[in-house]
Amino acid sequence: MQRLLSMRRQDVLLALVAVLICYSVTPLSAAPHISDPFAAPLDVQWQEAALLPAFSADLDAASQWDRYTVSAGIDPERRAIAGRLRLEYANRAADPLDRIYFYLFPNLPELGGRLDIRSAIVDDVPVRVRYESNRFLLRLDLPATLPSGAVAHVVLDFSAVAPLDASQRYYAAFNRERGVLTLASALPMAARRVDGAWQLATPLFRGDLVTSETALYDVTLTIPAAWTAVTTGTAIESQSDGASRTTRFVSGPQRDFTIVLTRFPSISTDVDGTRITSYFRPENAEGGRAALDAAANALRAFNRRFGPYPLTELDIVQIDARKFLGVEYPGLIMIDRRLYTGEREGLEIIVAHEVAHQWWYSLVGNDVQGEAWLDEGLTSFSQVIYQEETGGAIAAERELDGFRATYLRARQAGRDAPLKRPVSALRGNYTAIAYAKGALFFQALRNRIGEPAFDRFLRDYYATFRYRIASSDDVRAIAENACACDLNDFYRDWVLTAAPVAVP
Ligand SMILES: [Zn+2]
Repeated sequence: MQRLLSMRRQDVLLALVAVLICYSVTPLSAAPHISDPFAAPLDVQWQEAALLPAFSADLDAASQWDRYTVSAGIDPERRAIAGRLRLEYANRAADPLDRIYFYLFPNLPELGGRLDIRSAIVDDVPVRVRYESNRFLLRLDLPATLPSGAVAHVVLDFSAVAPLDASQRYYAAFNRERGVLTLASALPMAARRVDGAWQLATPLFRGDLVTSETALYDVTLTIPAAWTAVTTGTAIESQSDGASRTTRFVSGPQRDFTIVLTRFPSISTDVDGTRITSYFRPENAEGGRAALDAAANALRAFNRRFGPYPLTELDIVQIDARKFLGVEYPGLIMIDRRLYTGEREGLEIIVAHEVAHQWWYSLVGNDVQGEAWLDEGLTSFSQVIYQEETGGAIAAERELDGFRATYLRARQAGRDAPLKRPVSALRGNYTAIAYAKGALFFQALRNRIGEPAFDRFLRDYYATFRYRIASSDDVRAIAENACACDLNDFYRDWVLTAAPVAVP
């Protein structure tokens, strides 16, 4: 059963700080501001609003995270967002930097959209905008070398356009269709560096696209007042002139800032201090309620089993997606419309899966193209945990049976593979390996090290790698630490080779 809350801490804060001043609306230019967001560096203190009080000390690590300040206007009719982004980018590597790369996800051909950089300024010096890799990458040559430990201030004026009614052809997380504008990964994002090397490969459309470092976002959006902006993070200020509304959001420590505009109704509930909100088409109210209930049950279950979700909000939005049933972004989940209408089965477990991704993908990051099994395998295994907590042992066994069947079918067809295998090398067996075999790995690990050690493993893995990026070797190290045992053979057979493992 759910509780519906009409007012909570954030709303009270919002009411206190809302300052009603008049401004003129200029859609798609730099938005009129509550206060000029670029007047000062990102203020880390405001980020506390996105974190539960018990986790505000997580911001002590803020010096490790890049800071994005954004002000943008969104025109849902034109499916366009335009504005200014400032990145305070620290060179955390030992070597000096002569350039900075950004990912421009909307320019991937499979998204069917476009992201243009109108101008770029680094430390007050205009620099040339250079696109690489079919415009997936933006390269900025720095006006002066950035020494190790120094911070560059990059200011980009950008505009992006999403396709229309494109869920049949393109990736529906960047699209406008049936009353929802989804703008996933629409903002320019600093490219990752690993051991001083830029990670510039264009992602393949076989799994998730974004591997990114944790960052802090302070985002001011101006939108038509009839629409609601649903985003990563929490609103801290808002004002309206009747025709449009300007709202300032803070993300807390998150890997991406996702934006959705909708005119749908919503319902909310509160679990362990986190407000969960479900947005749905008015005619699918029953599905909207079922999605909320599933998310609430999942959050409660995973808080208990993995350690608490630290953020104040989690949103679920019904969208039209033909190429997937659900997809996770930091603090925001998109679920296909047909699961709400009954045209497709499995709303509850798919919502639970996407909620589990908040732990495995979002809070604990991993290379989603290089080691997809880390998040997809553990998230799929989390379906078993979800059933144990809510449906009982028989339901949990049914989840495992599904993974067993999928994996064994691939194995019998000669398509087994090591878990540690890039998405590019998984052809026709991506789901069977990353999801099904990945889930079975965790069940096999559980059988091998026993319940108390496995419970320690899950909690330690989350606590150690929250806001960081974990690798396959990290899973092994945390597991060996939890059981005080050697897992060399087990790890080799499951993760490094395609040995015929005993299916748990
Ligand atoms: Zn998944």
